[in-house]
Amino acid sequence: MQYPIGDVRSRFLNLGEQSLRRAGSGREARQIKTVGVLSPHPLIHLGFISHPARQKQLRDLSLKIHSHPELGFKEVKAAAWLSQYLEQNGFSIERGTCQLATAFRGSYGKGRPAIAILAEYDALPELGHACGHNLIAGSAVGAAVASKAAIDQLGGSVLVIGTPAEELYGGKIIMAERGAFDNVDAAMMVHPSGHDSATIQALACLSLEVQFLGKAAHAATRPETGINALEAMLLSFAAINSLRQHIEDKARIHGIITEGGEAANVVPARSAGKFLVRAEDNAYLDELKERVLDCFVGAATATGARLEYQWGKERYAPMRNNPTLAGLFQQNMQSLGRKVELTASGRVGSTDMGNISQKVPSIHPTVAIVSAEVASHSPDFALAAASEAGIKGMLDAAKAMAMTVVDLLASPQTFTKVKEEFGKADS
Ligand SMILES: [Zn+2]
Ligand SMILES: [Zn+2]
Repeated sequence: MQYPIGDVRSRFLNLGEQSLRRAGSGREARQIKTVGVLSPHPLIHLGFISHPARQKQLRDLSLKIHSHPELGFKEVKAAAWLSQYLEQNGFSIERGTCQLATAFRGSYGKGRPAIAILAEYDALPELGHACGHNLIAGSAVGAAVASKAAIDQLGGSVLVIGTPAEELYGGKIIMAERGAFDNVDAAMMVHPSGHDSATIQALACLSLEVQFLGKAAHAATRPETGINALEAMLLSFAAINSLRQHIEDKARIHGIITEGGEAANVVPARSAGKFLVRAEDNAYLDELKERVLDCFVGAATATGARLEYQWGKERYAPMRNNPTLAGLFQQNMQSLGRKVELTASGRVGSTDMGNISQKVPSIHPTVAIVSAEVASHSPDFALAAASEAGIKGMLDAAKAMAMTVVDLLASPQTFTKVKEEFGKADS
């Protein structure tokens, strides 16, 4: 059965409040059915995420992941717990999908349209879940299981794609290359943040590893025989600092020195560093790449040190936010009482979801779990990821994603619009 989209939403909006108050009451749930509320939106509230026992399961799952932080590609426990939860809720599971041990693919329903909800569950070195990926995981499986009622009524399938190693290796980039998103019609995930926003700005990003090879010498007695690799690195930083004044606003270049000599009385024979170059789009990243490299080449020429470098294999693509998907998510999240901006005012770096958004119509909204001043990747954010506000954000994100799945399944016209926007170069 298919419902016109406006109809679905108006039924939800008219009855959502009542439905929420009535959640858990069998008699009233029946009453709502008898007055003809067949829209899956209230079913999501009544039947799944608003049920205290279901909420507790999602809370426990996300807090368990939070208290067992695992780094990228080592998320063995998290992947197992999430897969098990989905399996217990009627999903078919493919473990170790895309030849990645901690990736998985859960599916419910058959065929197209296939809507993917992405789960991240990796932690950060030292800081644990300071990016809140435990909440991303909980909201993804919660939304997917809540969508089952809609799949049963409207057809299609909902997938949970477990994407490891977002922080360190860009697991989604590898999975996209290995075909994980080839038969997917739309993709979404929600990231915890200091803002409620339906879209994000994420930059194209490429890593660069550099080393200079010089010649060691006594720094006092025979400095004229040495070639100073550390000076080459310092000159590179000076050149990049100069370059930075004359690049586009959103572009970023930043790096660290990982090796700069062993002893103060020895001319360093080797220096090494790691850098990231980011830009708003791939074309400008290509341009910037050459200009950054020139900074190192110039420093090598000036000092006589030999330059060796290697660009990262995986390029993080910029995020393409699908306007219609973002609009649906915004309205759904607002129906839960949040004020959600459509255009992100918060800053982000880069995400491997950007690569998915280049292949499939996608959104990567953010849900506020802290005030805007608290930065992610900080100890305070790690605390927030296990707080009541964090759990509430996770549950709201799960509901709003499930409602967005319903909107897409209920209205083929809307889905067509999503695809048309994706087909245009600048959406
Ligand atoms: Zn992060
Ligand atoms: Zn993150």
